[in-house]
Amino acid sequence: MSSTDILAALAQNLTAGQIRVIDLTQELSEDTPLLVLPEPFGQTAAFSREEISRYDERGLAWHWHNFTVGEHTGTHFDAPIHWVTGKDLADNTLDKVPPQKLVAQACVLDFSAECAADADFLLTRAHIEAWEAEHGAIPAGSWVLFRSDWSKLPVDAYTNRREDGAHTPGPDASAVSYLVDERDVLGFGVETIGTDAGQAHLLEPMYPAHALLHGAGKYGLQCLENLDLLPPTGAIVIAAPLKIRDGSGSPMRALALVSE
Ligand code: MN
Repeated sequence: MSSTDILAALAQNLTAGQIRVIDLTQELSEDTPLLVLPEPFGQTAAFSREEISRYDERGLAWHWHNFTVGEHTGTHFDAPIHWVTGKDLADNTLDKVPPQKLVAQACVLDFSAECAADADFLLTRAHIEAWEAEHGAIPAGSWVLFRSDWSKLPVDAYTNRREDGAHTPGPDASAVSYLVDERDVLGFGVETIGTDAGQAHLLEPMYPAHALLHGAGKYGLQCLENLDLLPPTGAIVIAAPLKIRDGSGSPMRALALVSE
C-alpha cells in the first residue's frame, strides 16, 4: 500500500469503529490527586480555575475560565529537563520534543496482580524478560506502559500516603536500565502519580526511573488510566503535552488507537 492508501484505510477503520480510540487520560479537576514532597521541598500546584465570564455583564455571549496547574499535575508528560540527569541534554524541553515522537507504538506490561498483592511491588529486568518471552522483544522507540490497575483505586488507596511516604509500585534500576540500554524505548508510562515507586528514594540510584530515563533523553507518562483496555502489543499511543517553552512537563490528553 502507498502511504496515501494507508491513511485512507486508517480513516475508514476509524469511521467504521474497526480502530477504537481509548482515552488514557484521568479527569483533570480541583480534585486531581497530587504528588506531595517532604519539607522543605517545593510543591506542585493543584488544578484551580477562576471564571472570567458566563454569558453575563463580564462577557455577554461567552463562558470561559483562567486556570492554574502544575506542570506535573494530573495525566502528564515528563521531559528530560525535569531531572538533573537530563539538564544538559539537547532538545530536553517540551517545545523541543520532535512531533514524530508524540505518536508511537506501545507495549503494555500487565503486573496488576503483583501490584494488588504488594503496593511496593518493584518491576525488575527479570519481569520484563519474562514478558518478552511471551510477547516478543520490546521494539526500539516504543512506549512501555506499566499496567498496575492503580488508576482504578479510590483516591486514598491511589496516593497511599503513610507516615514514611507513599507506597505505590514502580520499576527498579535493573528494569529501567534494561529498557534504556538494551531496548532504546521512547519512554515509560504508569498509572501512578510518578514514574517511580512511592518508596523510590530508598533505591539505588534514588528515583531510578527519573534518573535513568531522563538522563538518556527518554520521556515519562504518569497518571494514565484504561491500560487494561489495551493489548500487550499493537496499540498506538498519542501522548502530546502542551508546547510550553522550556517546559519540564505538562498535562496532556493521552489517547491510544486499538485495532478491533
Ligand atoms: Mn512528572
